[in-house]
Amino acid sequence: MDKTNQYDETINNDLFSTIGRETNEPSISIDINILKDDITKREVDIIVNAGHEDLTGGGGVDGAIHKAAGHQLLGECLNLYGCGEGEARLTGGYNLPAKYIIHTVGPIWSPNKEKQEQAKRVLSNCYKSCLEIAERQGMKSIAFPCISTGAFCFPKKLAAQIAIHTIYEWFHRYIGNIKNTEGCYLDVVEIVCFSDEDVDIYEQVVKDEEASRF
Ligand code: ADP
Repeated sequence: MDKTNQYDETINNDLFSTIGRETNEPSISIDINILKDDITKREVDIIVNAGHEDLTGGGGVDGAIHKAAGHQLLGECLNLYGCGEGEARLTGGYNLPAKYIIHTVGPIWSPNKEKQEQAKRVLSNCYKSCLEIAERQGMKSIAFPCISTGAFCFPKKLAAQIAIHTIYEWFHRYIGNIKNTEGCYLDVVEIVCFSDEDVDIYEQVVKDEEASRF
């Protein structure tokens, strides 16, 4: 049995009801681009960093972003005095092609069932917090890494289901309001995977999510 599938039922029956899917919601088209790349190379308005609460950098995608952005990023991060789990903070992109970075702090996966429920909510909040900041900044494009699925050990398929469902729900709720004063829309969402395995998982989850909406 695929180990990652054991969480599907919990997701559908529990977490997603807390996100609150509307009935008779209008159907909208969202392009979520799943691709394999180094997120530090993405030429988008905002890339998302999966950081730690002290925002001082670390390994994985966090380390890669700090290295590529340059040491000025750490200086700005230190002035933010940290970030709670599920929250997000905005900084400049410095030497990156991206204009900005949103730093969010994902949950650490735990064997404890209660903590797992909390971790699912926190992961969903990470995506929502980032989208809300991007919207407030009037940005058009955002690239996410697979938050919490590396050192924080969140099960990959479950993380993908939460990520994709949260993004879809967020757009359904906010698409009418995401116009900035210049009339720009947040209309490009990338999930930047670091492995072929992750690309396959996210592509399948997008198909499942779309199928569930028709
Ligand atoms: P976390 O602590 O949130 O688990 P990690 O950085 O350990 O964060 O891993 C999160 C995801 O980011 C993993 O899927 C990992 O393979 C991926 N990753 C690591 N480096 C990069 C990079 N340069 N670009 C895109 N994704 C990356």
